[in-house]
Amino acid sequence: MEPNQPAAVTGGCQCGAVRYRIDAPLQQIHYCHCRMCQRAMGNLFAALAGAPKDALHWTLGRPRYFASSSVARRGFCERCGTPLTFAYTDAQRVYVSIGSLDHPEAAVPEIHYGIESRLPWLHIADQLPSAPTSDDPRLRDMRVYQLPTP
Ligand SMILES: [Zn+2]
Ligand SMILES: [Zn+2]
Repeated sequence: MEPNQPAAVTGGCQCGAVRYRIDAPLQQIHYCHCRMCQRAMGNLFAALAGAPKDALHWTLGRPRYFASSSVARRGFCERCGTPLTFAYTDAQRVYVSIGSLDHPEAAVPEIHYGIESRLPWLHIADQLPSAPTSDDPRLRDMRVYQLPTP
């Protein structure tokens, strides 16, 4: 376990209806600049921290889910709209939005992912490695369920 991470990680949505606890160190902490994450978060990129699915416990309420594609779904609070989770259907890992953590400062990103859609005017002054989503074979035959953009 990383020395800067508490044993139990907690978080929740902005209205307090949905709360979670993660009984594992966060892993695969990353920015995702892919267009799907931009649209799902309504933001410039997603900032996500991973954990084993069986380590994530909903301690209050439950998220609603939107299947944004044939390979993944995204959890959110149906009352206030806060994006909470991203998970590939066939994976053992779930990601929570770093902004929904009670202590986001403990989730330090390790990589920029989805850089093919990174906004050209967005400059983050770090030396982290970067990778396009095309490196992921899971996405090759994916059907996107987000509405097409005009
Ligand atoms: Zn909420
Ligand atoms: Zn993404």
